[in-house]
Amino acid sequence: MYFYRRLRWRLIGAPLLVAIVGTSCMLVLTYIIAFQLAPDLLNQQLIVLLENPDQIERTQGLLLETFRSVLIRSVLIAAIFAMTTGVIYSVILWSSLVVPLRNIAASSQRIANGRYEERVEMPQQNVGEAITQVVTNFNQMADALETVENKRVALIGNVTHELRTPLTSLRGYLEGLQDGLFEPNAETLAILQNEVDRLSRLVEDIQTLSKVESRAIKLDIQPINLSEIVEQVVFQFQPQANQQHVDLVYRGDKGEQILVMADQDRTIQILTNLVGNALRYTSEGGEVQLQINHQGAGTAAIIVSDTGIGIPAEALPYVFERFYRVDGSRSRESGGSGVGLTISRHLAWIMGGELTAASPGQNQGSTFTLTLPRKS
Ligand code: ADP
Repeated sequence: MYFYRRLRWRLIGAPLLVAIVGTSCMLVLTYIIAFQLAPDLLNQQLIVLLENPDQIERTQGLLLETFRSVLIRSVLIAAIFAMTTGVIYSVILWSSLVVPLRNIAASSQRIANGRYEERVEMPQQNVGEAITQVVTNFNQMADALETVENKRVALIGNVTHELRTPLTSLRGYLEGLQDGLFEPNAETLAILQNEVDRLSRLVEDIQTLSKVESRAIKLDIQPINLSEIVEQVVFQFQPQANQQHVDLVYRGDKGEQILVMADQDRTIQILTNLVGNALRYTSEGGEVQLQINHQGAGTAAIIVSDTGIGIPAEALPYVFERFYRVDGSRSRESGGSGVGLTISRHLAWIMGGELTAASPGQNQGSTFTLTLPRKS
């Protein structure tokens, strides 16, 4: 980067250039006066004086007048040059500094008014590094704001859509009750209760999602024993697995000490989501197994794999996106809100870990891996 492209040199350059041009002009003019004009002029006047010695006063006056006018003119010429340089420099500085800054100010005003697609055009002329950087950074900030805004709009759309489904169902049942299509018996009330529960779960999940996404969640990070937690989650899900006739197993040494730095409740929350999903998407006769891999440098991983419906390759990149469901109606019917994995991945990130998904394809099972930092 040439030094003159830096803003600091451009600003220092203005008075410096004016001073240099002024001084140079003065020096050149002084040289011309002292060495070119003065000798001739003095010679002429001296000759006149020698020929007419009585005209000393007139010659003296003439010389003084000439000296004064030459001096004033040289100072004036130097000043005009210096001022012209200053004005030209200021105009260049104005167009390269003030114009882009005004554009940024105008764009930021438009963004503040909600026009998030607004960007500042990169100035065509050579405006220097600092302004180019400011414009680039400003546009990056505008990009980030637009993404946040798009996400916000998408979230509102998703939430509205998700709320509409149970509400439509509830309204249908209530209208059916009013029209006498359904009896207000225990069975109907249980269905209504179920829909209300689903609605409450959804609202709770959305609240948790907004908390984890904005990282407004308090963690209690301390050394926890992974194998103990895995055993606890397996124990908790065993009745459900038995009922579904799915084998739920922990393949690891019972009582082994594998210490990670994490929040115990949040780790259980993630595992509950993973094992819950694995059971939900695995049919009778299948298997859900949990393993711990602590060979990784500085990390330990809990691997939850199942022999269930699997995830098609094209859907894999999206399973962690909020409200994404591979098979919308099936997941929704089984009570899934579609944000479980989004919440889990955010929780893993907040704890300094990672959550990934893999699947060889449809009906070939899925594997979810939760990585957490090990206790050093
Ligand atoms: P949901 O509440 O719908 O289960 P999640 O965020 O937990 O929401 O999961 C998102 C989607 O990922 C699910 O709808 C399902 O399509 C897919 N998925 C998650 N876990 C599994 C799994 N173990 N096997 C197959 N598909 C899964």
